[in-house]
Amino acid sequence: MKALVKQKAEPGLWLMDVPEPEPGPGDVLIKVLRTGICGTDLHIRSWDGWARQAVTAPRVLGHEFVGEVAAVGAGVPADIAVGDLVSGEGHLVCGACRNCLAGRRHLCRRTVGLGVARDGAFAEYVVLPATNVWVHRGEVPLDVAAIFDPFGNAVHTALTFPLVGEDVLITGAGPIGIMAAAVARHAGARNVAITDVSPYRLELARKAGATLALDVSGTGIAEAQRLLGLKEGFDVGLEMSGRPEALRDMVDNMTHGGRIAMLGLPAEEFAVDWSKIVTSMITIKGIYGREMFETWYAMTVLLEGGLDLTPVITGSYGYEDFDAAFDEAATARSGKIILNWAA
Ligand SMILES: [Zn+2]
Repeated sequence: MKALVKQKAEPGLWLMDVPEPEPGPGDVLIKVLRTGICGTDLHIRSWDGWARQAVTAPRVLGHEFVGEVAAVGAGVPADIAVGDLVSGEGHLVCGACRNCLAGRRHLCRRTVGLGVARDGAFAEYVVLPATNVWVHRGEVPLDVAAIFDPFGNAVHTALTFPLVGEDVLITGAGPIGIMAAAVARHAGARNVAITDVSPYRLELARKAGATLALDVSGTGIAEAQRLLGLKEGFDVGLEMSGRPEALRDMVDNMTHGGRIAMLGLPAEEFAVDWSKIVTSMITIKGIYGREMFETWYAMTVLLEGGLDLTPVITGSYGYEDFDAAFDEAATARSGKIILNWAA
């Protein structure tokens, strides 16, 4: 089968023929229809410091996908059947650590990442344990189903703290920040302000429902407060950029008792004014992945309730054109880019 492979420990990706994976007991073989390109995949293509320590070549990339069940291994529950439309949770958990045993699988200490530490979904077929498969029971557009993994990051982050009637600040208008803005509005926030330095992405965020999309290349978050008429700061912050200046400016603009959910992964350690966090009595929570499978349930019912993610999807390519697709995904003039694997 065709697959996009990190074949050598150097920058680049290789479209190659590799053996089709076989489902073992408890596994599901999925014929991949569409996949989404994630920042993780861009890191692996460019072979940066993170990728060099996280990935061993050769490795099939990809963890955002939708596909059709092609075969099931022995012991797979009957509610997953050949022909079902499915996506997959890309964090494979150990099942044996304290958190896994307690049912808190998203907190597993020994998570293995699909397309990072195990062969992924940028291929014609992928194998996943049945416990990681999410069956789409209702109507979902294929492009939206392909990005359930990052949509889950957005939902998990946005719904970490109560939002109804609150003023929400999102720093970083990448695809996940934009989806989080849509979720926050849908979930009943009063104001959703989002910041970035890309006018293109800020416009996408407006289309997705942000109350205010502010270019912070020449100003700060205090300007967002002023424009929205806030008196005491934002109630909930969603940090999506991993940028030190974004978190610092967010902390400066939170209300006393404000709550911050941090999904953006900083490239290195940095200083923040902890005295401000103490005296403003701010809660900060780190977010990684999705809750299995409460977040997946929430994603499905949010879409059923009318949440529209289509503004975030801005490009679609056949898998043979992966280089052009990756180039577009790497610019700040794109939202989510889809690769099509169906003939
Ligand atoms: Zn575990």
